[in-house]
Amino acid sequence: MQGRNHLKLLLWVTVLFIALLTAGCLLLPRGMTVAVVSDTFGTLLIVCAMLAFTWNAQAAKGRVRWFWMLQAAGWALWLADQIVWDVWDLVIRRRLPDMYPADALLFLAGAPMLGGLLLRPHRQPSSASVRFGLLDFLLLVLWWLDLYVSLVVCWQYPYPNVANYSRNFDLLSEAGSAVMIAVLLLFWRESQGAWKRFYAFFCGAAIFNALAFFLINRALGQGLYYTGSWYDIPYCASFAVYAIVALAGHGLTATPETAGEESYGAWMADLAMMAVLSLPIIALVALLDPRLPHKASNFRVLVTLATIFVMAFLIFIQHRRLNRELSRTNVVLQEASLTDPLTGLRNRRYFSATIDADVSQALRSHADSHDPHTRDLVFYLIDADNFKEVNDRYGHDVGDAVLVEMARRLSSSIRHSDVLVRWGGEEFLIVSRYTDRAEAELLAQRVLSSIADTPFRVGPSGENMRRTCSVGWAAFPWFLDDPRSVSYEEVLTIADRGLNRAKQAGRNCAFGMSPATGDCSATMVARSHAAPLAIDALAVAGPHSTIQS
Ligand code: GH3
Ligand code: MG
Ligand code: MG
Repeated sequence: MQGRNHLKLLLWVTVLFIALLTAGCLLLPRGMTVAVVSDTFGTLLIVCAMLAFTWNAQAAKGRVRWFWMLQAAGWALWLADQIVWDVWDLVIRRRLPDMYPADALLFLAGAPMLGGLLLRPHRQPSSASVRFGLLDFLLLVLWWLDLYVSLVVCWQYPYPNVANYSRNFDLLSEAGSAVMIAVLLLFWRESQGAWKRFYAFFCGAAIFNALAFFLINRALGQGLYYTGSWYDIPYCASFAVYAIVALAGHGLTATPETAGEESYGAWMADLAMMAVLSLPIIALVALLDPRLPHKASNFRVLVTLATIFVMAFLIFIQHRRLNRELSRTNVVLQEASLTDPLTGLRNRRYFSATIDADVSQALRSHADSHDPHTRDLVFYLIDADNFKEVNDRYGHDVGDAVLVEMARRLSSSIRHSDVLVRWGGEEFLIVSRYTDRAEAELLAQRVLSSIADTPFRVGPSGENMRRTCSVGWAAFPWFLDDPRSVSYEEVLTIADRGLNRAKQAGRNCAFGMSPATGDCSATMVARSHAAPLAIDALAVAGPHSTIQS
């Protein structure tokens, strides 16, 4: 509330100042009094604009805050220029030199203003978008400075020439204003609602300011201008318009980027690179231009070479930073591509990427090792029983939560060296490595118990629900006396047959497949006692019965 009152007060003060300045300029005759009135209210109006932008920065966050802060910084430079002018005009009371040193401040004021705008504050970048980095911004500012020093300062100090100085200063200032207006128009076109209105006003203010500046410049050239002449009215009024525009933009927040807009950051980086590439051309033109005096040519070449050096250094830093960021992103992406997003388990892609090494290891140890106990690779295929029921009764979200809990329980049933993969919807695969097939049954038993023994708590009321799973397993190499004769893919298919058998046998049990003469035999592990399913004929056959396939 208090903030709103501040804004209102500032608005009225701005209107009052411009009214007083207008009255003074129109009514008072040329002289010291009108100069004091014009300079004082002109300065105060710049303070109003600076305050408006600063208050907006205080109320904003993120990019939008940076945008307002950079505008305020531009206005601070503008104010510095105005104060130097006031001192010159009112205290020193001398005619302003043609090549006024504080012109540089006015010129520099445009850099943070345009830079803040290029942050594209109306859009919240998505995480995928390339950032409009600080370094791109610095490169563009340096390029702009190089132009200023080469084209303007060159005629100011090393080889003074008023005509060239004024022409180039005006040219660059107008180019800066034109770029600002073009960017504002671009953003006006692509934004909506409050931002669209804000950009329209802002663009209007920039055009108004550029026209007023042009009028003053023309009057100066024709010797018509004096401090307090009517030319000051539109110029100072443009400060008031800026302040009012800022007040109208108070509280604006960024909206998220939509698809296709992510290229903006890359576009800015391209622009910065083009600026860098243009520098050797600027240096070459300075070197070869026959009209350019030797001293001026040397100065330009030296300044541009220094700029190239500083830019190259910045690019070197940026390159290193991007490389580091790229490596980090690659690690994150690679990890994500190998992980199942729901359960956090490894996925099939991980399995495909690692299985060849595991198979080779198993084959090697079977060929070389004298230790018969730790060289098998056992595949367990696990499928949740009647899982459709869960979705149908409690909804898909609860189904997902049960799957996540199943994954957690399975993870705690296996050893560190085993790999648990989400094989498909409600199917899991355990690759048990460096293991002994004779003990494979124990893990199958642990898997059954981990799911069936403890009920799952589901829904907001924490209702208890019992679930079970079925398991089929098989060990690689299939034939110990001829390890390469059956591939791991075939062993997986055999494990799947074991799983089918477990389903046919009434679920909540495990079938281990092993080679037998003519076909394979299946070892059945008893279902967990805690499960509420009816015990069928197969289970009665006992926990370790061997059934001929
Ligand atoms: P069975 O005991 O024969 O395996 O019965 P089932 O209902 O588990 O088997 P079926 O293959 O007929 O159906 C599997 C169900 O698992 C179907 C699908 O709705 C569910 N499911 C698969 N993936 C997901 C998942 O990611 N989330 C949820 N909530 N459900 C899934
Ligand atoms: Mg199932
Ligand atoms: Mg299934």
